[in-house]
Amino acid sequence: MPGIRAHQLPPDELRAGVRQWCAEHVPHDWHERQTSASHEEFVRFQNWWFGELRAAGYAVPHWPQSWGGGFDLARQAVIFEELARADAPRLSLHFVSLHHAAGTFLDAGTPEQRSRYLPGILDGAVWCQGFSEPEAGSDLASLRTRAERHGDVYVVNGQKIWASGAAYAQHCLLLVRTDPGAPKRRGISYLVMDMDSPGVLVRPIRQITGEEHFCEIFLTDVEIPVGNLIGAENDGWRVAQSTLASERGGTMIELAERLAVGLRRLLLEAAGPGGPPPTADTVVGDRLARLAREVQALRLLVRQVITRSSSELAQGAHASVVKLYYSELLQRLTAFGMELAGLDGQRAVRRPVGSGWESGAWLLDHIGSWEWTIPGGTSEIQRNIIAERALGLPREPAA
Ligand SMILES: Cc1cc2nc3c(=O)[nH]c(=O)nc-3n(C[C@H](O)[C@H](O)[C@H](O)COP(=O)(O)OP(=O)(O)OC[C@H]3O[C@@H](n4cnc5c(N)ncnc54)[C@H](O)[C@@H]3O)c2cc1C
Repeated sequence: MPGIRAHQLPPDELRAGVRQWCAEHVPHDWHERQTSASHEEFVRFQNWWFGELRAAGYAVPHWPQSWGGGFDLARQAVIFEELARADAPRLSLHFVSLHHAAGTFLDAGTPEQRSRYLPGILDGAVWCQGFSEPEAGSDLASLRTRAERHGDVYVVNGQKIWASGAAYAQHCLLLVRTDPGAPKRRGISYLVMDMDSPGVLVRPIRQITGEEHFCEIFLTDVEIPVGNLIGAENDGWRVAQSTLASERGGTMIELAERLAVGLRRLLLEAAGPGGPPPTADTVVGDRLARLAREVQALRLLVRQVITRSSSELAQGAHASVVKLYYSELLQRLTAFGMELAGLDGQRAVRRPVGSGWESGAWLLDHIGSWEWTIPGGTSEIQRNIIAERALGLPREPAA
């Protein structure tokens, strides 16, 4: 259909196009290559893959049309489904940039800030999120990193922790305290920090798996221009809700599709090569059927939730329901994968750098699944939000 752009194609034609593109572009051996990749190779690979997706028009389907997206929900789902089905690499290095940072600027940034930051994100700039602190994780509003205004700059001192990908990041979404005298949620501001600013020290945290997914960030007299303030001074808590809502809700469309692919993998493995259908064993069949129902429920739930406006998402509990359901379902599914695989599934293999839970080995995938119930608010915190905002239960009085 000449003249019709991808975001206007009928979903079936879009699907055929994405499928064809994946067949031609997804490197068949990327798992093996990334398993022995150094961190530099991982970054190069992720940037290359981002460039491929961008050239095809599939990198930011969820962004507005003026910024290279404009796909409606049904078409976004088609793209993510096909990428997942083709086992295309996930953009794990750019996850914070494409979802948390972009979502925040589109929702709470000025037009000037969107023009300043979104093109860089499209060019592959890596962002990290500096919210958590050693004494402020679940109770994020207790954060103590201090920013004092001196003329045209804020001077920032403090420490952040658990910042994913900070070792590779060029920019950071930073929450700071600008009014220590105000009630704790009212004295917080939201800044953009360049990671190469003098006074920024990034220290990677080595995990037991040998990976260095997160970092500590130490800030000593870091000067951040006042123009890098997102939203109003002392209104950062409200802006942060946009970031957290996109972390808990909207990003899930892709993850839900990946889970559906995980379920297919489970079905194939349960059958074995030339073996009986998995439903031949009623216990296995029953559990598979239950998981299949849950995955389908998640996909429908995600579609329903992302039709909500960002302010509805930020205020309500919809995003929390999705985050809670996804992360706990992921644990149930990978646990069953491990159980079905028996002793074979316990063999420790190395997982591809940045592959998340989709390493191909159920033991590692199950271990990897546990990290999903913590960031963006733990499962307990999501249950608190659902109890208060959706069910209207009373808040526990502060001690
Ligand atoms: C994979 C991963 C990636 C992350 N990436 C980032 C990042 O990029 N940027 C960033 O800023 N942070 C990041 N984090 C940090 C994450 O947001 C925090 O770990 C999380 O908010 C929990 O805080 P905490 O670790 O301080 O635990 P704590 O807040 O100390 O909680 C400890 C335990 O107590 C429970 N608990 C605490 N308060 C309550 C309550 N009121 N009611 C019921 N139970 C409660 C918690 O559920 C938890 O089980 C990441 C974490 C992980 C695991």
